[in-house]
Amino acid sequence: MKKDTLIVHAGRHPEDQHGAVNPPVYHVSTVTYPTVAALEAGAKKPFEGVRYGRYGTPTTFALEEAVAALEGGWRSIATSSGLGAIAGALVAYLKAGDHLLMVDTVYHPTRKFCDGMLARFGVETTYYDPRIGVGIDGLMRPNTRVVFCEAPGSLTFEMQDIPAIAQVARERGVVTMMDNTWGTPLFFKPFAHGVDVSIQAATKYIVGHADAMLGLITTTEEHWANVKAAVAAFGYSAGSEECYLGHRGLRTLSVRLRQHQETGLRLAEWLAARPEVAAVMHPALPDDPGHALWKRDFEGACGLFGVTLKPTSKAAVDAFLDGLEYFALGYSWGGYESLIIPTSGQVVRTATRWEPAGPTLRIHAGLEDIEDLKADLEEGFARLRAAR
Ligand SMILES: *Cc1c(COP(=O)(O)O)cnc(C)c1O
Repeated sequence: MKKDTLIVHAGRHPEDQHGAVNPPVYHVSTVTYPTVAALEAGAKKPFEGVRYGRYGTPTTFALEEAVAALEGGWRSIATSSGLGAIAGALVAYLKAGDHLLMVDTVYHPTRKFCDGMLARFGVETTYYDPRIGVGIDGLMRPNTRVVFCEAPGSLTFEMQDIPAIAQVARERGVVTMMDNTWGTPLFFKPFAHGVDVSIQAATKYIVGHADAMLGLITTTEEHWANVKAAVAAFGYSAGSEECYLGHRGLRTLSVRLRQHQETGLRLAEWLAARPEVAAVMHPALPDDPGHALWKRDFEGACGLFGVTLKPTSKAAVDAFLDGLEYFALGYSWGGYESLIIPTSGQVVRTATRWEPAGPTLRIHAGLEDIEDLKADLEEGFARLRAAR
């Protein structure tokens, strides 16, 4: 089955739902058993036999089945948010005295989880340069349990050599995890590149309409039970309504991404040629430092990228942003609408240096007409020049 066929058919069983195309939203806490024998048989099979709303509903299972098939993993676990998926995956492996290798360009709340919660529970985190590749070997300790990757990096978009890192980790018996939100289940295949546990902030492109919080952890067969046990122990379950929205959003992910990719790339190229712009951070651009890795390992690019402006005042950047009509100022991304945020002063790096030439922005290219988006930015640049 080709990718676009799989995205339409994976995890769908209309015959079990009176023929309905989509699974309904099952509102469930209690699941009843017909007999004592069935109840006792269930108790012998953790999370599969024990049926209870917290472990998932048929709506959850449909979403999990579809995402696992698309990412190329064994099974998925839905959680209440992307950050919940990251926390659940990490705590599945780490205990007091353990060591974690975390990429320096990680999504900032993941860093906060490591430096706050994990540190409090006696887990030590070492941040590493995203460009480290096989050099990750030099940071391994006897107590290293997990190497965590995210590519491209949050806000600054550095690529990572995932297969090289995963190979070193495998040789040392260390688990490789990856936050694959930018790549989505369509543009990066984590399991084909050696990753053991993959995380999606489904809030972004899978839900795709900026209207639900949802996370997914997908694993190899070897790792599923361990991660499921941790997620279940913390009670990080996803709501059925959210799983329904994720399941519905997923079906159009491929066509949406084609447009996000195209508009994002064309905007990135247009911005790179602007006199007000110092650099564009987008691994699909041929002169991006991460381009070779992106080209080797990824099958596409989403609509999220970074921009560094030439040095100018904060007032000028604010004037640029404040009057934008189609680019809303807002966190998160992956919905159908264009977004922009200033990222100056928000980038925290401890293993690498981040010294942009000027103020930085992050853009999410939505599904609007590109000519309208360019005109909107063009007017913004006029306000920037007038204010500086
Ligand atoms: C947004 C985001 C998350 C967190 O997802 P939430 O659903 O908002 O908790 C994790 N990783 C990346 C890369 C993200 O962009």
